Amino acid sequence: MTSNPTRVLVLNSGSSSLKYQLLDMADRSRLAVGLVERIGDEQARLVHTPLAAGGEKRERIEPIGDHDAALKAVATELSEDGLGLDSPELAAIGHRVVHGGKRFTRPTVVDEEVMAEIERLIPVAPLHNPANITGIRTAQRLRPDLPQVAVFDTAFHQTMPEAASRYALDTELADAHRIRRYGFHGTSHAYVSRETAKLLGKAPEEVNVIVLHLGNGASASAVAGGRCVDTSMGLTPLEGLVMGTRSGDLDPAVIFHLARNAEMDLPEIDALLNKRSGLLGLCGDNDMREIRRRVEAGDEKARLAFDIYIHRLKKYIGAYTAVLGRVDAVAFTAGVGENAAPVRAAAVAGLEELGLAVDASLNEARADGARLISPEYARVAVAVVPTDEELEIAGQTYELVRS
Ligand code: ADP
Repeated sequence: MTSNPTRVLVLNSGSSSLKYQLLDMADRSRLAVGLVERIGDEQARLVHTPLAAGGEKRERIEPIGDHDAALKAVATELSEDGLGLDSPELAAIGHRVVHGGKRFTRPTVVDEEVMAEIERLIPVAPLHNPANITGIRTAQRLRPDLPQVAVFDTAFHQTMPEAASRYALDTELADAHRIRRYGFHGTSHAYVSRETAKLLGKAPEEVNVIVLHLGNGASASAVAGGRCVDTSMGLTPLEGLVMGTRSGDLDPAVIFHLARNAEMDLPEIDALLNKRSGLLGLCGDNDMREIRRRVEAGDEKARLAFDIYIHRLKKYIGAYTAVLGRVDAVAFTAGVGENAAPVRAAAVAGLEELGLAVDASLNEARADGARLISPEYARVAVAVVPTDEELEIAGQTYELVRS
């Protein structure tokens, strides 16, 4: 057994958090899942669920000073379930890395040169790449003998043609500062577009899909025959759809206007657009469940926030229909996309001329797993396809290290 290790630990490191899953790629099963929050705090919280052992969820609140301590605490929990990270069955550790720039178009085994490149990308991903680097370094110290694989959020989108990936800016200046549209949520768009093809009984190469990843962050992508040809996020995850707390598309002159007239400096405007805009800025709530509850209760502010969210979504469905020429399916995924039937219904309402419709009872039925919600007569399939970024990261990691 030890000659053919099949387990992959997936790590998603944030600035003060560490999410993890241990998967066995022999049968794609999840052995354990968990997260550490508030790293650096006296009151850090570790929640661990050993699925394989059929164990109960365990929770600890204790001081956890840094990512090293967090991963050691996770390793201790895993050991208690006989799933320790010293196990010879562990094949690799897969890391979610947010920004891979133009260079990283596929999962990559990390060496010092790769680390240096991820570090060079910090100016375009100041919030994310430093935390991802810390996560990789920490895992390297714990298991220096194991391959550490970086799976980039941007990778799937690097097939975009220049017409879609370039901004209309001075070319030399843009190149000097690596300014272009990179796109994010790539592992989700890759996974969901493939699963959508599967749901249609076709190969990914045969279908054109619009993927709507609607979580707290949200992005759309146009996927032609398995390759991304356009996506709504750009240099950073701020562009595109209306999100929980991000504005999405905006006239860039709004920034100059705020600087000149609202006495705000750049860090303040940055925080405004990323953290206090979107649904939260519009109505004070960023959770779609709460917004729907308020809409149902007749709250006008929540209704307007919902309408603005839907209007933007519709514009992207229309735009990507034009980009793709022929659309076989529109797939809804992530927290909002998988759960909010009113969002799905409103997003395609009135788009019958584009071949889009949803069947109300299929749309509203409670169900798990990938499913179609369009009526049989519809020219374009509308689907709900649960995303699974950890499984995708584990799969890509395993494929790379076993070959
Ligand atoms: P993230 O983008 O943080 O990874 P998710 O994809 O899990 O998040 O999406 C989280 C969001 O999903 C929540 O903020 C909430 O708006 C929405 N959501 C979750 N469950 C439901 C539900 N049952 N109905 C409507 N919206 C939901």
